[in-house]
Amino acid sequence: MTDEITIPAELLPADGRFGSGPSKVPTEAMAALADAGKSVMGTSHRKSAVKDQVGRLRRGLSELFSLPDGYEVIVGVGGTTAFWEAAVFGLVDHRVQAASFGEFGSKFAGAVAAAPHLADPTVVTAEPGTAAHLTAEEGVDVYATPHNETSTGVAVEVKRVAADGLMLHDATSAAAGLPVDPAETDCYYFAPQKGLASDGGLWIALMSPAAIERAERIAASGRYIPAFLDLKTAIDNSRKDQTYNTPAVATVFLAAEQVDALNAAGGLKAAADRCADSAGTLYSWAESRDFADPFVTDPQLRSNVVTTIDFDGVDAAEIAKVLRANGVVDTEPYRKLGRNQLRIATYPAVDPADAAKLTESIDYVAERLS
Ligand SMILES: *Cc1c(COP(=O)(O)O)cnc(C)c1O
Repeated sequence: MTDEITIPAELLPADGRFGSGPSKVPTEAMAALADAGKSVMGTSHRKSAVKDQVGRLRRGLSELFSLPDGYEVIVGVGGTTAFWEAAVFGLVDHRVQAASFGEFGSKFAGAVAAAPHLADPTVVTAEPGTAAHLTAEEGVDVYATPHNETSTGVAVEVKRVAADGLMLHDATSAAAGLPVDPAETDCYYFAPQKGLASDGGLWIALMSPAAIERAERIAASGRYIPAFLDLKTAIDNSRKDQTYNTPAVATVFLAAEQVDALNAAGGLKAAADRCADSAGTLYSWAESRDFADPFVTDPQLRSNVVTTIDFDGVDAAEIAKVLRANGVVDTEPYRKLGRNQLRIATYPAVDPADAAKLTESIDYVAERLS
């Protein structure tokens, strides 16, 4: 019967991609990549055509985040998951305090706990849908938390918790969509397939002078560091607009397109406002329906880039299935959360008008399923 539900065209979003990662890549950016075509793709990453794109991305991010003096944009291969290991080898002296309130925070805490050269981390935990908060602790030299927990749709404020110790923020889904003051963090890292509307395969870290100094000191200390994960090597290469090994060139290009577009459209403030607009539409719609509610009960913690909506009396998996059959994709919840839920990305690339249309589509489907 779900096969038979056809959502009327006037209720459908113009672009039906609402995945939290990989996320919507603007058609304009893909056209620009096709136009650049032969001059970039399939050419050497040690020559200017590709290095110019890495440089464009690095400069664009400095502008988007209004980076303070001495902060640098470092790029490496392997996505956020590779960066976690690079941090384990190259940024942590001895002991980490990690916030874990969902899948991604817990994975970084797990990477630290597994490292034989580090002390056991202090892991502050909280139930999915809430947040765990870092606090100053004796002997800790790295404090780590997700800025936005993509698996649950919980976002926290980026804020230093101690006078010393590096602050690390996993901003994979937050970057470009949530406000941030880079002075409150030493390493704001992400991969470009979420808020940056690009594809996977790279990590990007906005590193403070203190973080760079730490990475250089640890690299010189004689600690074993796998070459692929060596942050000092990544820093040296990034300064030359290169990566240690072959980068995902299309990913660099698409990310640079999105960053340039966001800078032209008013920068981070405008991008964050746009996300707040889309997310606000979804949350207030959910609050107004008796079959739906925002999963995150504390409005202060509700993410403006990944919205999670619980359903009652109607099967969210069925809704997601009907939406998919009608060209609206990737609204399924985070697998392991196991809730009767939809998860909808409201990154800067998503048009707030499409978020509004999505609520109309869901209303139409829910009425026919319940
Ligand atoms: C998606 C995601 C990751 C993993 O990113 P990869 O590039 O796939 O390694 C890590 N952290 C957060 C917060 C994420 O959303």
